[in-house]
Amino acid sequence: MKTNEFSLLGTELGLTAYGATLCGVVDGWPLTLWNNNVNHVHLIVDRKRDSALVKQINAVLKTWGGKINSWVGNMLVITAASKKKAQGSASTYIQFCVYALGHAGLHPLETCPYCGGGNCDAAALTGKGYRPVHYRCLQAEAGKAHNKADINRENGSYLLGVLGALIGMLVGTIPTFLTVVYLEMEYSILFALIPICAYFGYKLFRGKMNKAALIVSILMAVLGVFILNFEYIVFSIMREYGFSFSEALSFVPDLLRDGEIWAAIAADSLQEFFFSALGVVIAWGLISRTASGAAANADAALRLAQPYGQRAAAPAADQAGAE
Ligand SMILES: [Zn+2]
Repeated sequence: MKTNEFSLLGTELGLTAYGATLCGVVDGWPLTLWNNNVNHVHLIVDRKRDSALVKQINAVLKTWGGKINSWVGNMLVITAASKKKAQGSASTYIQFCVYALGHAGLHPLETCPYCGGGNCDAAALTGKGYRPVHYRCLQAEAGKAHNKADINRENGSYLLGVLGALIGMLVGTIPTFLTVVYLEMEYSILFALIPICAYFGYKLFRGKMNKAALIVSILMAVLGVFILNFEYIVFSIMREYGFSFSEALSFVPDLLRDGEIWAAIAADSLQEFFFSALGVVIAWGLISRTASGAAANADAALRLAQPYGQRAAAPAADQAGAE
């Protein structure tokens, strides 16, 4: 289905777009629509797969060229109507699908996935599909996600985070150093490990998980390339002159003060910086999946929630729906 047709379908049925899907309640059935030809209507029903029921429902859906595509646990998926047999608008087909399920004696699963209780008062997008929930449970879930984010915001420490990132960065240089020393090869891609290890160090030491985590990872990505080159220099001094590690280390303060060495490393390390930057991109992906990311998802679920179950309790609304 073309994108504009799909969004028109959403408007006709009163559904809300979420990513590539539409979700909402149609004739008392919470459901999700996927815009592809195989997995079209996703519903959570109150029965597990029943072959006799599948036959019975398919016999009805066949008139539109649709059928039950899968029924795993309580998740039932119905295919789209076939172009040849479609007898009317796409929205009529969706209504026909839920009618066919109701006619076969199925109902939406009215068990809240969070507390396991009944008498749900809202429909919402959960990790297990768009389905009836308790609004208070959904709020509690969002509250938990926000708490987690808040705890990190309040208790996280920049200082400890930077310390952890430094240690992580040093650990991240080890694989490259060892491959150079023992295999005499340099795999530039290993430079990506430097900011990734720095990020994990930052997280492990309870650094505040906000943009600072990214900035620290970038700084460590740059610093790590220099540190690694200084590690090589120290190692070369040991090997060339037969110095011990502590003797070689005594040269380091002089090396660090020498601006020319820094400049030479910077000029020689374009490729290393490139792969280190790649690691920053990966670290950024990890950062966006943190507590504040989970809180944002929970907020989205709250926004997509709508009242559910009141229709049966309020006859006035029922009459309005029947007109
Ligand atoms: Zn609940």
